[in-house]
Amino acid sequence: MQFSAVIGQDELKHHLLHEVQGGKISHAQLFLGKPGYGSLPLALAFVQYLFCENRSQMDSCGECAQCRKVSELQHPDLHFSFPTVLAIAKKADAFISDWRKQLKENPYFNLHDWTKRIDSSERKPIIGVDESLEIIKKLNLKSFEGGYKVMVIWMAEEMNADCANKLLKILEEPTPKTLFILLAEAQDKMLTTILSRTQIVRVTMLPTDTVQQALEQRGITKATAASIAGRSDGDFIEAQHLLGDTEESDYNRELFIQLMRVCFKKDVNGMLAWTDAIATQTREGQKLFLKYALHMVRQSILKNYTQEMLTKVSTEEAEFLKNFARFITNNNVMDFMQLFNDSHYHLERNAHAKLLFTQLCFQVMRFIHRA
Ligand SMILES: [Zn+2]
Repeated sequence: MQFSAVIGQDELKHHLLHEVQGGKISHAQLFLGKPGYGSLPLALAFVQYLFCENRSQMDSCGECAQCRKVSELQHPDLHFSFPTVLAIAKKADAFISDWRKQLKENPYFNLHDWTKRIDSSERKPIIGVDESLEIIKKLNLKSFEGGYKVMVIWMAEEMNADCANKLLKILEEPTPKTLFILLAEAQDKMLTTILSRTQIVRVTMLPTDTVQQALEQRGITKATAASIAGRSDGDFIEAQHLLGDTEESDYNRELFIQLMRVCFKKDVNGMLAWTDAIATQTREGQKLFLKYALHMVRQSILKNYTQEMLTKVSTEEAEFLKNFARFITNNNVMDFMQLFNDSHYHLERNAHAKLLFTQLCFQVMRFIHRA
């Protein structure tokens, strides 16, 4: 992958280009930011630039043997590590063909997309201790091509403690010409011992017009691209989901409407049925719902106070918000935001879903009557 194929992030591209040009490459780097900001594509372009035999000031050549091996994901000195569903396989290599396929189809994907790809029952993938031994083994090999050995660890926050602890020594004292690129979304989920051994490279959200441009380049009409970019939170994966996965957002919209309806009516049986329904979803699906709920609360408040929402919701949502928005006011908006944010936070930390959503229903019932 060349830098030119990475959406936006010009400043960061320059930083990475200079790093290679100056020959001062720090051996362990942590790219920190949501996958949808482009951390993985950036890492791939960075590695290709590092390996390229014919690089220019701005990009790798894309044509030399090294570039071709990197872009085919077949470079013998480029290794990948990523979460796997342990019940299926404990090491990333077992999924390497899925990994290559995913990256070739679309390098903008998140853990939810990855989980769906590798496991039809969508169990939570992690990076376990067997994988850490594999990483160490690979990095102890001599470099095949005589240059750098690169290990890209995607979703490094999914390393369990045993795995992370095993890697501390090699992060501290790597074999010569080793480059670690760890990619993570959330700093607070990384062990401090790992954080202190890596140089942090912050990957920031994409400006709305950059997302819009990228969508237009992919053949989306200007109006749709503008609407989706406005709702994407500078996250290209979010934009793709809004665009492609209408089924999922239809489902979340229905769930949201249902939740508000039963809570408004104080219909306890309805609330329990709603909880049962959402409890059958995967954890990632539940997290997406909470993000969707936040989106709807934000748009309601915008509708009440500005006209901005008109560009940020779909036609179906606008229809629902016509009647619903008045239930979100200054008296409850902060409570709703905090409730959905906190629930998202606790779900990520493996809270019991059914209990969490039952409590959420009762909170929603209190808040909605406070409008
Ligand atoms: Zn090249």
